[in-house]
Amino acid sequence: MQLIEHYLSLQGEGLRTGKLTYFVRFARCNLRCSWCDSTYTFGKGKPISFEAIAQAIKKSKAHYVCLTGGEPLLHTKDCIELIRHFPNLHFDVETSGSIAIQPVQLKNSSIIMDWKLNHSKMSHKMKQENFSCLRKNQDLLKFVTDGSKEEQMEILKIEKKTRKFGFLISLQPVFGTNPEKCANWLISLKNPRFQFNLQLHKTIWSPTQTRV
Ligand code: SF4
Repeated sequence: MQLIEHYLSLQGEGLRTGKLTYFVRFARCNLRCSWCDSTYTFGKGKPISFEAIAQAIKKSKAHYVCLTGGEPLLHTKDCIELIRHFPNLHFDVETSGSIAIQPVQLKNSSIIMDWKLNHSKMSHKMKQENFSCLRKNQDLLKFVTDGSKEEQMEILKIEKKTRKFGFLISLQPVFGTNPEKCANWLISLKNPRFQFNLQLHKTIWSPTQTRV
């Protein structure tokens, strides 16, 4: 497997925020978002054997594993192998929505689909067919938003389009912007499909620190 890093920490976002989690950060990304905070993942990473990473997960005692990147679905085969190897652990797969998610949607895995809005300059790469695959009560659609009127319109359009699928939608303010605006907007929507998310790890540790 080609990895950037792997380590034990706390899940910083999604439905399992705060849980002791083992992070497996895969190398490379197929996108170049305008505000990317993970450019250190763009390289080809270091090779590590499946056995070594499986052993590290087991030794960590964590009940949760997060497969992230870069873009973990550039390594779909490795992701499936890990998820299947640990049927008693739960996996969060953090992906952008630009690659088919279905192959990694197993019983013990959840998708956090970090959908790219127009300001990322990558929205044209998103696979619309992924919306119909997201499972209610198991997967999450996430938007990182600057809270502008344009983005509010964009988010509401997607919410309307995907309402029939019923999955939860998480709103996360762009790091460094005032979260109050986003939180107040969410409250004003009175829509229980939405939830608010601040990146826990960036609140606890330095926002530029890796391996957290
Ligand atoms: S998908 Fe994530 S890692 Fe890739 S360019 Fe966008 S923000 Fe960066």
